[in-house]
Amino acid sequence: MSDCLFCRIVSGAIPAKLVHDDALCVGFLDINPQAPHHALFIPRRHLASMNEATPEDRELLGHLMVAAAKYARDQGFSEPGYRLVMNTNRDAGQTVFHVHLHMLAGRQLAWPPG
Ligand code: AMP
Ligand code: ZN
Repeated sequence: MSDCLFCRIVSGAIPAKLVHDDALCVGFLDINPQAPHHALFIPRRHLASMNEATPEDRELLGHLMVAAAKYARDQGFSEPGYRLVMNTNRDAGQTVFHVHLHMLAGRQLAWPPG
């Protein structure tokens, strides 16, 4: 079994509150939300970080963005707005090394982020 936390969520070995599920990616609620609404969208296939992304991952990464944006729209966040963000490596605070796109919404989000 994979020792990657998010691969284990994809396989169902670790439970998560799924909000999206398709052939390429899954979305689930963040366990430690940083906004009233905080979901993560991850590829089913393991990709440690954006440092490992290649041109072959274009479709997959575009798919993640569109799935997260559709979810935000469906949740009613189009008009007030929301943030899609990915952290890469130490300086950005990446803690789980399986690519994940954060969808944060439901409050005024500061810019620039800390
Ligand atoms: P990052 O700092 O960008 O690597 O974000 C990792 C995110 O994964 C954090 O927001 C965590 O709260 C979240 N997280 C860690 N473990 C779980 C889990 N078991 N289920 C849902 N979210 C998780
Ligand atoms: Zn993984």
